[in-house]
Amino acid sequence: MMGFETSMAFSVILLIGAIGLYSLMWIGSSLLLAFCVYNDALYRRVDNPVMWAVLSGFFNIVALIYIIIQVSKKQQPMRCMQCGDFLAPGSQHCQRCGRSLMVPSSEEMAGYNKRRRLFLWLWIASQVVSFIFVFVFLMIYLANVFSFVGL
Ligand SMILES: [Zn+2]
Repeated sequence: MMGFETSMAFSVILLIGAIGLYSLMWIGSSLLLAFCVYNDALYRRVDNPVMWAVLSGFFNIVALIYIIIQVSKKQQPMRCMQCGDFLAPGSQHCQRCGRSLMVPSSEEMAGYNKRRRLFLWLWIASQVVSFIFVFVFLMIYLANVFSFVGL
């Protein structure tokens, strides 16, 4: 039979442990979301894919804003990243400043497409796991609290 203090201490350790574990899950989940947004930005040829990925990782709401912007945006003609001139489709160099455009090959595009889907599913899975974890933890925690207050 555990004393009240022992139960109390156990309960606090359990809570701290769970919060720590949940934080790790949150970080992991945020990384998956960042990778998803990064590959999506590369696939859509959005400027600043790293910025979008980092922001989405830190503030998950940014990923939602990003998706809304990308879905509502019409397919824009490609622009040169150096001088901003519109580019002829399929060209390898800018006709104005001559910058090499480094157009991704179809294999690279397929890779971005595959990875953005993969990371999206992994992110969804991590959210489900986190949710189940919180649910199970609350059940165990409440059962523990109720048992030592004598309910
Ligand atoms: Zn140019």
